[in-house]
Amino acid sequence: MNSIDNKITKLHNIIDSNPNLANKDSLILYKNNFETIDDNQKSDLIYIISATYWILGDYKNAMNYAQKNISNNYSITGTINAYKILGNITADLDNYLSAIDYYNNGLQLAIDNNISEEYYAFYANIGIIYNEIGDYANAIKFNLKGIECINNSNINIAAPEINLIETYIIIKDYDSALKYLKIAKKLISKSENNSANADINNAYSKYYFAKKEYEKALEHCYLSIEFSEIANNKYRNIENFVLIGDIYLALKNNIFAIENYKKGYNIANEFADFIQISKLSSKLAELYVEINDSVNALKYYQSYYKATTEKNLLNNKNIKEQIVIKEKIKDIELERKIILKENIELTKINKKMELINNIGKEITLNADFKRSSYKINALLKKVLNIDFLIISYINPDQNSLKYIELINNDNKKIKMTSNNASIEDTLAIWVIKNNKPIFDNNYRLNYKKYKKNFRESPESAPNSVIFIPLKLKNKTIGFFSIQSFKENAYTKDDFNFINTLSPFISISLENSIKSAELINEIKTSEKTKRKLEKANKQLKINSDYDVLTNLPNRRYLFSHLKKTLNISFRENKPLTLLIIDIDYFKQYNDNYGHIQGDHCLRKLAAIFQSSLKRKSDFIARYGGDEFIAILPNTNINGAIKIIEAINTNLKNDSIEHKYSMVSNQITLSIGGYSASGDTKINPRTLIKKADECLYYVKNKGRNGFHVKFDDKRKSDI
Ligand code: GH3
Ligand code: MG
Repeated sequence: MNSIDNKITKLHNIIDSNPNLANKDSLILYKNNFETIDDNQKSDLIYIISATYWILGDYKNAMNYAQKNISNNYSITGTINAYKILGNITADLDNYLSAIDYYNNGLQLAIDNNISEEYYAFYANIGIIYNEIGDYANAIKFNLKGIECINNSNINIAAPEINLIETYIIIKDYDSALKYLKIAKKLISKSENNSANADINNAYSKYYFAKKEYEKALEHCYLSIEFSEIANNKYRNIENFVLIGDIYLALKNNIFAIENYKKGYNIANEFADFIQISKLSSKLAELYVEINDSVNALKYYQSYYKATTEKNLLNNKNIKEQIVIKEKIKDIELERKIILKENIELTKINKKMELINNIGKEITLNADFKRSSYKINALLKKVLNIDFLIISYINPDQNSLKYIELINNDNKKIKMTSNNASIEDTLAIWVIKNNKPIFDNNYRLNYKKYKKNFRESPESAPNSVIFIPLKLKNKTIGFFSIQSFKENAYTKDDFNFINTLSPFISISLENSIKSAELINEIKTSEKTKRKLEKANKQLKINSDYDVLTNLPNRRYLFSHLKKTLNISFRENKPLTLLIIDIDYFKQYNDNYGHIQGDHCLRKLAAIFQSSLKRKSDFIARYGGDEFIAILPNTNINGAIKIIEAINTNLKNDSIEHKYSMVSNQITLSIGGYSASGDTKINPRTLIKKADECLYYVKNKGRNGFHVKFDDKRKSDI
């Protein structure tokens, strides 16, 4: 660090505690060394001079030096600080619009250059202005922002807290005021800074004053005066004396009030601070009027007008100089904007790279092409102006184009249309036929390049269009298009960007078509399979069951009998087969009619079925009026029980048959045969044996049963 740097750093350290000294030394340094020092040092020195002038209340000089720093633009920090000082001064001059302007310029410069330790001061100062104009919500908001910035850095400053305390006192939120008093006190206690201690005691004094605790208010105010004196900063006490004056005024002690206001007034005069002079002289003049001291009242009124005139003059000067400076600022701004623009371009490129990446990911993750299209649209809309987004693929079978078209309408909702287009005079066909992209920013004017006529009115057509043929392995499979109603909506960059994106879309399109085909294939084959199964089932039902009675038919009977006989033999279990025949059924049919005959058969089938007890019992229609029951695991005694059950049920249902020779109701002849399971017997033999028994019953006069079993023992009832 060279000696000038050293001196400048020293000046920084004494600026707050002894601004008089800082100003004197800095001016000497400025006079003797300015030509030899570098830009940063120049800027720093000018800032110190400007800041000390401001602290000392010499606004004219403070402003001059600050403006010097801005117009020369020696360094960014110098310019930022100059804005700060100009903002402070114009705020003191009650020119809040200018002040906000200066603060915002400074803040923007700090943000653009990432000088975060400067943010808080601008936020806090903007907060003060809002406080001054009575917008307390914003005053609080900006000071809280200031606090946040301080918390994010290593600075130990309680300025925004002190501002907040003032605002909370004004809006009578004493709890919040006290909260920030405590926070500020804690912060300041770390630094042992006398000026800061003066500030905090001043704030306490204001707090107690507002709460009408005048003793305490005075106590803190005197403490603040003491700290200011230790800091050798007399100027700071103007405010304290005004406060003491206000307290005495509240205590209705006008004499003491005047005495203290005068103390403040004298300091202000010492520093030739016309802003403070103007404030204090008006207070004093009013008080003298009140106590009927017209001589003094006049004196202070004169002083007030003089100071106010000076204030106005300075304000006018500021406005004039601001105009000159604004021109210079414009040049600097322009330079800054060029850099910013370059930055913006870079960020845009970055954003697009990120987008390509995202779209790529989205497409590969998502097999559903429609959903991908929505997502592509949503992502692209972030960076491009899109009224239509179309993805289209060639359907080679139908020699047509299939469109997926997303329309971003006025409500920003997406409508989806999907239709077939035959080969016509359209931009789409031009792209496919020529296998070339289209990039046209004034399509309504240039449409003849691509087609003969507009299909709709030209007004409904887009102005800017980008069409990219989608290729896969050198084959054009469709196209991708974005369109906007705006003229010149797209740049060459945008076109390149869409071009880069197109292979992703091609792959996604191909995949989705394939997967759709596959899904279709699977769906069709599943459908056929289901149909076939159903038909087979129906077929089986038709071939296994008797249509009239719904009982298993003869075919089914034989296959079932074969299976059950095998099981009985394997398990060595008996099996009984019964043949049931309706007596004189021919007569029934002849006399009651065939329909009634059918009805009778169905009724009997139901009776037989309900008479069978076990799940394994089986009854089938053997043909005509003959039925066969297969009773596995049933010996002759079991079979007889079933026969009895059938006869009982038949009796209960009593079907009239006046033409029967044995009864006036339907009766049955039943022949049966019980196979023991010891020896193998084939189905036909078994049926034949049962039939012989049936024949026996018929011969014996019908309406009975006869069951035999294989050791030739007979059961004849
Ligand atoms: P039997 O007492 O000796 O058994 O004399 P039957 O008249 O019952 O015997 P037959 O074999 O002479 O006649 C059977 C009759 O059953 C012939 C036919 O009129 C009737 N029949 C056969 N199949 C059906 C059918 O599907 N529906 C109707 N309604 N009648 C049938
Ligand atoms: Mg019969």
